[in-house]
Amino acid sequence: MVSWTGFEKIVRQGEPLAMHTWFQLGGPAEYFAEPENADQLIALLKRSHEENVEVRLLGQGSNVLIRDEGVSGLILRLTSTEFGKIEIDGQQVTVGGGANLGHLVTTSVHRGLAGMEMLVGIPGTIGGALHGNTGAHGGDIGQWTASATVITAAGETIERLRDDLVFGYRESSLDEPVILAATFVLEEDDPRELAKRMQKQWILKRANQPMGHQCAGCIFKNPRGTSAGELIEKCGLKGTRIGGAVVSERHANFIVAEPNCTSQDVQRLIDLVRSQVNDRMEVQMELEVEIW
Ligand SMILES: Cc1cc2nc3c(=O)[nH]c(=O)nc-3n(C[C@H](O)[C@H](O)[C@H](O)COP(=O)(O)OP(=O)(O)OC[C@H]3O[C@@H](n4cnc5c(N)ncnc54)[C@H](O)[C@@H]3O)c2cc1C
Repeated sequence: MVSWTGFEKIVRQGEPLAMHTWFQLGGPAEYFAEPENADQLIALLKRSHEENVEVRLLGQGSNVLIRDEGVSGLILRLTSTEFGKIEIDGQQVTVGGGANLGHLVTTSVHRGLAGMEMLVGIPGTIGGALHGNTGAHGGDIGQWTASATVITAAGETIERLRDDLVFGYRESSLDEPVILAATFVLEEDDPRELAKRMQKQWILKRANQPMGHQCAGCIFKNPRGTSAGELIEKCGLKGTRIGGAVVSERHANFIVAEPNCTSQDVQRLIDLVRSQVNDRMEVQMELEVEIW
């Protein structure tokens, strides 16, 4: 039996997770908490470590599919304003791990700082973006990252500097359980030019992705030298359905959840798409979305 003595007011049992994710699917968390500040967060990590409870950070759940049976262990969210601060000093921008990526994009554009504008329209938090090195149109968040403050499973806070960080395609070496904050060094530019560039990217994104639907982002990573969406489309899989899960007509690498969809429907559709692409195109596709 796990002891949460001292944390009774913040640790909840059986919190439904569907409403915390973009797919809006899946079951509850065994334990769930939204700590108010870094001290409380560290204390929770230490207790979980002592009690052998696995801890996972959930950002805005825009790249996660929760299984119908739910998730064991403790799910933490950095929703307190303490974790969402954005501080600007010249070209240096320091941001909390729970801050909204969209907020960082618009704030930096407004202040005449270039780099983040290509990430416009991508949902999620700074922690989620750094963990998976979120990117679009040939750029990614990693290229602007100067340092990150992380917390280990044992509750130790560490400052990781640029030389020690590796960012690849939709992956990074930031794999500690908590990314608490990060510092980016951006480039000075004309705010009006930046706003125009941001608008252009936004129009492109709106035109190419399903909007206003229950979905995560791209389901599969692009295999080297090709696009997962194109491969899926070439296999004639747009519109393919299992239960309430459908391969998007607008972008074949998106799966949309219709009413009454279950997490299992999405997982079965993922398996079907992957095996068809493998059989017909002889390409093994790797998941971009995480299944918890
Ligand atoms: C409509 C739509 C469009 C999208 N377009 C793009 C796109 O163009 N490019 C792109 O790259 N992605 C895209 N995505 C995917 C998604 O937005 C990104 O992966 C995003 O960065 C995930 O952030 P999140 O906060 O929602 O993370 P979550 O989905 O909640 O979590 C993702 C991972 O990050 C970890 N994590 C989250 N917060 C922290 C933290 N503070 N510390 C440590 N680990 C943490 C989680 O544990 C998990 O492993 C899109 C998604 C949607 C729904």
